[in-house]
Amino acid sequence: MSEPAGETKLEPKQASKEVKESENVAEKYSAMTVSKNSEVTMGELSSVFTAVPTHKPVKKQIQFVEDKQEFSRFPTKAGRRSLSRSISQSSTDSYSSAASYTDSSDDETSPRDKTQVNSKGSSDFCVKNIKQAEFGRREIEIAEQDMSALIALRKRAQGEKPLAGAKIVGCTHITAQTAVLIETLVALGAQCRWTACNIYSTQNEVAAALSESGVAVFAWKGESEDDFWWCIDRCINTEGWQPNMILDDGGDLTHWVYKKYPNVFKKIRGIVEESVTGVHRLYQLSKAGKLCVPAMNVNDSVTKQKFDNLYCCRESILDGLKRTTDVMFGGKQVIVCGYGEVGKGCCAALKALGAIVYVTEIDPICALQACMDGFRVVKLNEVIRQVDVIITCTGNKNVVTRDQLDRMKNGSIVCNMGHSNTEIDVASLRTPELTWERVRSQVDHVIWPDGKRVILLAEGRLLNLSCSTVPTFVLSITATTQALALIELYNAPEGRYKQDVYLLPKKMDEYVASLHLATFDAHLTELSDEQAKYLGLNKNGPFKPNYYRY
Ligand code: NAD
Repeated sequence: MSEPAGETKLEPKQASKEVKESENVAEKYSAMTVSKNSEVTMGELSSVFTAVPTHKPVKKQIQFVEDKQEFSRFPTKAGRRSLSRSISQSSTDSYSSAASYTDSSDDETSPRDKTQVNSKGSSDFCVKNIKQAEFGRREIEIAEQDMSALIALRKRAQGEKPLAGAKIVGCTHITAQTAVLIETLVALGAQCRWTACNIYSTQNEVAAALSESGVAVFAWKGESEDDFWWCIDRCINTEGWQPNMILDDGGDLTHWVYKKYPNVFKKIRGIVEESVTGVHRLYQLSKAGKLCVPAMNVNDSVTKQKFDNLYCCRESILDGLKRTTDVMFGGKQVIVCGYGEVGKGCCAALKALGAIVYVTEIDPICALQACMDGFRVVKLNEVIRQVDVIITCTGNKNVVTRDQLDRMKNGSIVCNMGHSNTEIDVASLRTPELTWERVRSQVDHVIWPDGKRVILLAEGRLLNLSCSTVPTFVLSITATTQALALIELYNAPEGRYKQDVYLLPKKMDEYVASLHLATFDAHLTELSDEQAKYLGLNKNGPFKPNYYRY
């Protein structure tokens, strides 16, 4: 075997332009070690972080999209309620949300009709009940305990204030974990205004705690769609404050700024986007030549995808199923449709509890992986009469049809872990001959004329998002990635980033992972000079090319 030349290996695509940049990066990084992360200062970090563009730069062009959706500034309460089931496309597509632990449903007054003031006399927020702030503070403190890497980043960087002068407008789930991110951004010097990307996922007490601490939050659990857009608007449309950074989850905030306030983009230094849908929208804008600022695609960073999709689902599938059904898995026959990241996580968890797991796949590579992992790969129809649980994880539609639901046995459970609520053909179950019985929150018994019952969870929506919480540690990884992406875009010298969508460089993924290793007292092995030369790697990373599949 011939010895590599000792140069950084290049990837087939994206070669020449990034290579020049990464040469600079490598040079600067040579003084710093990712594995010994305590040596990495924020200044070093920001100045070396050069992301990978995924499209050719396009010409800057601000487009004003036709107003199709307009919120009513003073709708009636009835009007608001009538909209409450209608939600924006992306308000359901992100997975980092946790259910609220408080139920404020006893107070029917819309937050928009209340005047609330925090203890400092500010009323620049709109939440369900500011009096819940103290309880929310406890929730944030609990979340902090499992987000030690993000807290470490906060401590390490707050002296340097890499976000001093940053005015960040954010649209994400508002949970205790997001609050830890927001308060980290504030500690690093940013001013923040925040709204929710999902009408159901806001933890009211956390929104109150943030508002009490001075962050302008506009969000509450159970917003109508009209409220949703009103809250986004209140975050941007305020006197004497204009954002210069956007942190979005789903693309709705970005969309609203494009639609209503295109001039705001003159000051925006960059967009950081977390979700599949939001990233998809950014690529569309870029392709159409309408993206007028640099954007970071956080969704496709390795740490986000692997941890959010695989490990998060491995933990939360059981949580969701147990909370709703109290089912015992030992010896149960379960079929998991789709053996991608989410499917692999679900299968691993179920197998560990002694379930007999079948897999369906359309892709021979994933099917072969399932075989090698010890699962039987079958067609759904082959086992439909015998399985106890069906879980869909494909991101596809009509994976479980009415015909198949008709053939399932009495007492079987059906649920979905994929993005869309059309994986199970739930609409086909809303026919007169079938009776629906709501037995618990998010649990319906669908009853056939002969008395057979199928247990449908969360009406076919994402099980873990709807019925359980998501592990805080996973959210720490995503939040750390978001914080670093914001720091980099905000501090990047003019011209480093064009009007394009960028992936986080591998180096940053590795850095985020390294920050989290301390939690496990994990000790990385360091390459010797000889080994590094042999492999053609920089001793400090990146350790894998971008095309490497983990
Ligand atoms: P993936 O692309 O890695 O896996 C999906 C798999 O489904 C693929 O292997 C594909 O070949 C297979 N598939 C497609 N159609 C099929 C069909 N008709 N029958 C059987 N298999 C089929 O995607 P992923 O990362 O595993 O995500 C899957 C879905 O879960 C997506 O919709 C994603 O948005 C969502 N998601 C959910 C969570 C969560 O917390 N619940 C987290 C991340 C992603």
